[in-house]
Amino acid sequence: MILLIATRNKHKLEEIRAILGAPALALKSALDFPDIPDVVEDGATFEANAQKKAEALARATGLWTLADDSGLEVDALGGAPGVFSARYAGEPTDYAANNSKLLRELAGGKNRTARFRCVLALASPAGKVRFVDGRCEGRIIEDLRGAGGFGYDPLFIPDGFAQTFAEMPTDAKNKISHRGRALAAARVAWREIFCS
Ligand code: IMP
Repeated sequence: MILLIATRNKHKLEEIRAILGAPALALKSALDFPDIPDVVEDGATFEANAQKKAEALARATGLWTLADDSGLEVDALGGAPGVFSARYAGEPTDYAANNSKLLRELAGGKNRTARFRCVLALASPAGKVRFVDGRCEGRIIEDLRGAGGFGYDPLFIPDGFAQTFAEMPTDAKNKISHRGRALAAARVAWREIFCS
């Protein structure tokens, strides 16, 4: 059984591979299909973007396809950067610039509660889509801490922990992260789809 992961981000692919841990599934990624054009992520919600990517790649390849859209929602910023998380400080994606912008926007004693969200869309080759999602609540700290992970990891401490995502070992992050939780739900959905 082949599952196509709709991403060209190697870091994300490896996180998904580690969490999904399903040896019976041969994972392919969008990197294996260089001729398929990138899908423009212009949806207003994580769901819309994940659906658009999953449907487009499932249709183009004839494979079951899993697409994610994820990002950070900060309460004091009305849920920003949200669907704009990757390009918060402009294009192309620059993690350091995004983190600097976030710190600037939160200066002045604003509430720093936030959450990561991940929506996964699983599309069949016929184009039927199912969604699962995961979230991880936490807060944004005032200085970057840690060298692991990617994106906003050095600024995010999940509730109940003292380390940022960037200071945690990868497997510890994966257990509690938005993506880890969404993929755990996807594994259940996957079993239901193929065992019923
Ligand atoms: P996507 O590839 O469109 O889902 O972009 C999501 C953006 O949200 C990334 O570029 C990161 O800035 C941010 N993001 C999503 N997941 C994480 C994470 O686990 N850690 C840190 N940043 C993340």
